[in-house]
Amino acid sequence: MKDVIVIGGGVAGLVAARACARIGLSVTVLEATDVLGGAVGSHEVAGLRLDSGAESFAVRRNAVAEFVAGLGLTDQVVAPNPAGAWLHLPDDRTPGGSVSVPLPKAGVLGIPGSPLADDVRRVIGWSGALRAYLDRLMPVLTIGREHSLGELVRKRMGRRVLERLVEPVTTGVYSSAADDLEVDVVAPGLNSALTVTGSLSGAVLSLRSAAPAGSSVGGLHGGMSRLVDALVADLDHFGVEIQTDAPVTALRRAGSDEDPTWTVTRRPPAAPAGAAAAESLDARFVIIATPGAQALGLLGALSPAHAALADLDWPSPTAIELATIVIDSPALDAHPRGTGVLVASGTPGVTAKAITHVSAKWEWVAAAAGPGRHVIRLSYGRAGQDSPTAALSDQELLALALRDARTILGVDLDAGAVQGFARTVWGDALSPATVGAPARVNQVRELLAATPGLELTGAWLAGTGLASVIPDALAAASRTRHAALGI
Ligand SMILES: Cc1cc2nc3c(=O)[nH]c(=O)nc-3n(C[C@H](O)[C@H](O)[C@H](O)COP(=O)(O)OP(=O)(O)OC[C@H]3O[C@@H](n4cnc5c(N)ncnc54)[C@H](O)[C@@H]3O)c2cc1C
Repeated sequence: MKDVIVIGGGVAGLVAARACARIGLSVTVLEATDVLGGAVGSHEVAGLRLDSGAESFAVRRNAVAEFVAGLGLTDQVVAPNPAGAWLHLPDDRTPGGSVSVPLPKAGVLGIPGSPLADDVRRVIGWSGALRAYLDRLMPVLTIGREHSLGELVRKRMGRRVLERLVEPVTTGVYSSAADDLEVDVVAPGLNSALTVTGSLSGAVLSLRSAAPAGSSVGGLHGGMSRLVDALVADLDHFGVEIQTDAPVTALRRAGSDEDPTWTVTRRPPAAPAGAAAAESLDARFVIIATPGAQALGLLGALSPAHAALADLDWPSPTAIELATIVIDSPALDAHPRGTGVLVASGTPGVTAKAITHVSAKWEWVAAAAGPGRHVIRLSYGRAGQDSPTAALSDQELLALALRDARTILGVDLDAGAVQGFARTVWGDALSPATVGAPARVNQVRELLAATPGLELTGAWLAGTGLASVIPDALAAASRTRHAALGI
């Protein structure tokens, strides 16, 4: 019997496994696919090793930087090009047209701190800016707090701020409309700063002045997947057993109420789905670190109360598809749209929701690509809408991505200059940021606190992003350590 079985080999699972193994617990990690790291993946495109999922981490609270330091990677931490991102929007002056403008600097999720600033007026015009300024004159709602980010922005600053500044950012980051996002999850501290400062723009300025100076995100030289490489090397060092191609299909409580143990059933290596023979492993403690749908599925067999968690109002998963293109294009040397562009919903002639100019954003990518060669990454898929790309062949997706990139970046990109192309689908992310998420997550956590020997972690509970996922995984491991060793 192992001390700990960790189900899921994404960053949450690997971080939790490392923390348990470091203090001497015996640990097995079971990962469903043939690769570790989950949404922090890598792929090779035109000879370049690039991130295929997450490519940065938020520097707020220092959580990731500290963790990265523990892995000996501090000297590999890099900052992105400070040029910043742009917006691509419907053009007010030309019906059916679209326009690109720099994303105003002093904002939080696109909400401006200074509604009358030049860079804000360039996006929403004078009338939009004056409407947004009314926020400074309106009384503050003191009873209750706003849950929906969209509602809050619409009420305080008007439709133009919502549609042209905030929606492109929330869609780019969370694939969700602002109306569906819970303020306290996506902008922690904003509601209370609003009460203190008396306005939404005041709250934005207060959050920004409290944030560390410099870029709000960092990356790793060579890509975020190096975090996974370092974690896996450490797990090896601490003697953690890692099984890939090992999807867990069932979880059962064994032992006594006072001293519970767990039996975990996994599909045997190389067995086709649904094969009769399965393998069981026993452990004193289990940490589930899968996405939400799989975790809720595994909890279902434990008790009616655990099964009922699946009936909470969880949002449907949103599939995101990424099209990565390596292309020879000296016209892109000038970084015409900074580090990338967020596209407002309903912008005519563009299907993508965002594009990252990867070789403009990260110096190490530009150096690896060489002069005149560029990496761009387009993303597709918005919550609540059918995937616009799922039915496309690779050739069709490449053609669409090139067309979108030409429109958004404002340069002519020749299909014959494409050196490499890859498509990646991320299909099973439960958006943890939707309205009502804190209440749902609390219900899960309360029941788990009364389930000795079992822990849950991962982005679906902690919130999207490594800055949320890593501390949550460390906390789950720390509770396991306490239960196992009393320390
Ligand atoms: C395209 C994209 C870009 C992103 N960009 C950023 C970014 O720039 N910065 C940032 O901070 N965050 C970013 N994120 C978010 C961040 O990557 C995630 O929040 C984080 O990696 C989630 O980690 P996790 O371990 O909770 O889940 P996952 O990475 O989803 O890992 C869960 C693991 O569990 C495995 N699993 C599932 N079911 C089973 C089962 N039954 N048995 C065993 N294993 C199972 C899965 O195969 C997977 O490996 C991005 C995400 C995506 C998709």
